[in-house]
Amino acid sequence: MSHEIRTPMNGVLGMTELLLETSLTPTQRKFAETAQRSGKSLLAILNDILDFSKIEAGKLDLENIDFDVRQTIEDTLELLAERAQSKNLELTCTLPAGLVTHLKGDPLRLGQVLLNLVGNAIKFTDSGEVTVAVSCEHDAPGNALLRFAVTDTGPGISEEAQARIFENFSQADGSTTRKHGGTGLGLAISRQLVEMMGGTMKVDSTVGIGSTFWFLARLDKQASPLLVHGVHRNMLDGVRALIVAFRDTSRDALHAQIGNWGVYDQSVATADRALDVLRQAAMRGAPYEIVIIDSMLPGMGSIGLTTAIKADAQLAKAKLLVLIPVGREGAALETQHAATATCLAKPVRQSALYDCLVNIMAGSAAAPVKPLDGATDASRRGGGRRLLLAEDNQVNQQVALGILNIEGYEVTVANDGAEAIDIYSKSAFDLILMDCHMPRMDGFEATRLIRQLQARNNLERVPIIALTANAMPQDRDDCLNAGMDDHLTKPYSRMQMRAMLERWLPRESANTSSPGSVPEGRAAQAAA
Ligand code: ADP
Repeated sequence: MSHEIRTPMNGVLGMTELLLETSLTPTQRKFAETAQRSGKSLLAILNDILDFSKIEAGKLDLENIDFDVRQTIEDTLELLAERAQSKNLELTCTLPAGLVTHLKGDPLRLGQVLLNLVGNAIKFTDSGEVTVAVSCEHDAPGNALLRFAVTDTGPGISEEAQARIFENFSQADGSTTRKHGGTGLGLAISRQLVEMMGGTMKVDSTVGIGSTFWFLARLDKQASPLLVHGVHRNMLDGVRALIVAFRDTSRDALHAQIGNWGVYDQSVATADRALDVLRQAAMRGAPYEIVIIDSMLPGMGSIGLTTAIKADAQLAKAKLLVLIPVGREGAALETQHAATATCLAKPVRQSALYDCLVNIMAGSAAAPVKPLDGATDASRRGGGRRLLLAEDNQVNQQVALGILNIEGYEVTVANDGAEAIDIYSKSAFDLILMDCHMPRMDGFEATRLIRQLQARNNLERVPIIALTANAMPQDRDDCLNAGMDDHLTKPYSRMQMRAMLERWLPRESANTSSPGSVPEGRAAQAAA
């Protein structure tokens, strides 16, 4: 079922996304945006139902591969950052310093559970914050029992409703679907996934105060865990940092993050207090070298604070890092701070924070700021590089072509695997996008033949990315076994396509050969 349902969804979502890239009247834009939003919620519902039937049929298997729990959480929060920001909610993640996060398990399914819990928390909370906290409940020789808790300051859930929200198709009250959409399947699926991970899921909630959904999951330890940033640990060792953040959770999260690197830190909640502490430290002859400021600061705000620090001769030497929200508001703040501080978008990834702090301490101006919005010079991205797109479905061809043209790629279309082989043997491409299910010859067979052709004729190994409407881990394995390098699940957005292409065709490695040039003797070799 998954393939049949997802293929037309790619057409619906892809086409509305492309429509929104064109110039529309305000009314047309509103219609197209509504169609896109509805398409997205339909897709979420379809995904829930597909997972649900897979679990019911006992056909869902979990992977057990090496992964980093921290990265799974940070990826999830990044996906939801804009949604939280649009409701003015603070979104933070606290992992105690020293927690071993390189473990084994199923990162996709763990991410799915977190996405559901954090997504719900944002959906139902109107003001305040949403936090994710992880702790180790039990550390055994071969595995660790981790506790994940998602806490919100939302409406809370009555005891009566708490008893049934984990059941299939159940919501706390009848008005939920009307107000927020959803199927009442998310928690049921999440709980079953967590049980498959050897854990349990519960909720603690008080009406009017908020809810904490928490679960335990037993994760195996890796054979030889990597030490994150272990090699560079000394680069920040002993650095003196002052954290300025209004919310307790933000201060705790930052303290836990920098605690891993031997940074000496103190934290305060207001700008006035920060100035006092900085001045006292300077007078004692032990000034803070760096001030990490959360931009959600009441009173003088981060602009007022950074200006005051730079205006005070005693403090002006301190380096400033300001944590800004994603989106337009963040972009505006970044511009205002440009002269005095480095900015980093929230929620902050530990690795980005580390790199940023090291750069600042080393005096390098270029700190890794996340792009704040998608608006960039599209034509530079693709740089005219040549792609071969093998796709039989005409609507999906149009979706891919629309996206790839906007992104600045030159695309040749093949209608099935056999045609792809034919075209590939006559022209040079930087990358191949390969649909899996096609008439005459499918994408797996075509990939195998292309790889054989490359090996036989000593040709460059061009990346092949599968475009698949099947979203299960097994599908990814099938693609890799056939010789593909990666896979993009339909329906995909322009951003997902862009990220995939940038992963495999980084801009600096842009092919310098002129478009259309075929390596000498190529066609003859391939035909041999
Ligand atoms: P859905 O979100 O699709 O309705 P879920 O199974 O994820 O389905 O959630 C079931 C119900 O539990 C929701 O409809 C809502 O009534 C309640 N719920 C879940 N999370 C929260 C939360 N963080 N705060 C308040 N109510 C919640």
